[in-house]
Amino acid sequence: MQVEVNLFTVNKRFPLTISRGTTAQTTNVWVRILHDGLEGWGEASPFGVGNHSQSTDKIKNCLQQLVPVLKTFSPLQRQQVEQVLIKQQVPSGVRAALDIAMHDWLGKRVGLPLWQVWGLDRNVIVPTSVTIGINSPEVARARVRDWLQHIDVRLFKVKLGNPDGIEADRKMLLAVQEEAQNRELFVDANGGWSLGDAIEMCSWLADLGIKYVEQPLLRGEEKSLAKLKERSPLPIFVDESCFTSCDIPHLANYVDGINIKLMKSGGLTEAMRMVHTARAYGLQVMFGCYSDSSLSNTAAAHLSPLADYLDLDSHLNLTDDPFTGALVQEGRVLPNDLPGLGVQYSASAA
Ligand SMILES: [Mg+2]
Repeated sequence: MQVEVNLFTVNKRFPLTISRGTTAQTTNVWVRILHDGLEGWGEASPFGVGNHSQSTDKIKNCLQQLVPVLKTFSPLQRQQVEQVLIKQQVPSGVRAALDIAMHDWLGKRVGLPLWQVWGLDRNVIVPTSVTIGINSPEVARARVRDWLQHIDVRLFKVKLGNPDGIEADRKMLLAVQEEAQNRELFVDANGGWSLGDAIEMCSWLADLGIKYVEQPLLRGEEKSLAKLKERSPLPIFVDESCFTSCDIPHLANYVDGINIKLMKSGGLTEAMRMVHTARAYGLQVMFGCYSDSSLSNTAAAHLSPLADYLDLDSHLNLTDDPFTGALVQEGRVLPNDLPGLGVQYSASAA
């Protein structure tokens, strides 16, 4: 297969602040594979967790180096391609972009949307949450109102772990809860709490009816999850602590669920393995995103009948998403009936 690599820059309607910084704009990588008269598309978005960083340049350069290697494979040889990529230790974003593109190509080849290729039930897809970043309580309230005008929101994800401390977290959470009226909330601390903060906050949040907490402790502090689990009345999900199915057995006794992202897993193939591994350990599953456009979030949406919770909102916060694919209906990000991903490029938006 022939591989073409292009960059595109997307801007957020509202910059997103989490415990480790603010993002207003990203440059993502668009991968097109061409084979047998058909094109498959994939995307990689840059991200960083602790000292693990996958920049746009790193992803782009790696993909360009792989172009001659990939020429000898067809998009039907996903197993072989995955082995080559793992052997070469390429960043997971690179694997994700190629794996998504090969799946898109496959769906187009057989003339079916991916959710149908997999035999999944689109009707069981749950509503997506939308994200409220770290802000003053007043700005967070305004952000809630804006989301409610923008789409039919059923569930808010509230970013806590404010560098100013848990008092600031409390004030913002209460403001969001009031403004969101009776909609459900869950919390993502992005590793912004100490063990003591997390124990205190989990009790407080449980009393307020919050559904669950994501990544309360930093990646690398997994040993403390056992102590938190003993004391927390709230279900605990991990995101930064869990990249692939291999991480799940080490975490399974101390958490209630995992957040799967295509950029961490290395694509749909491994995301599916993660779902099944998590289920085998009795864990719940959510799908999340980084600064992904409609392209990657649509790929995740095709697999999303397998998830308990969905947080696929990054493309809904873009002013200039060059792609269209899954559309929001009744708060749910639903893949369409077109073959493959069903994603189209809109030059006017780019
Ligand atoms: Mg998260």
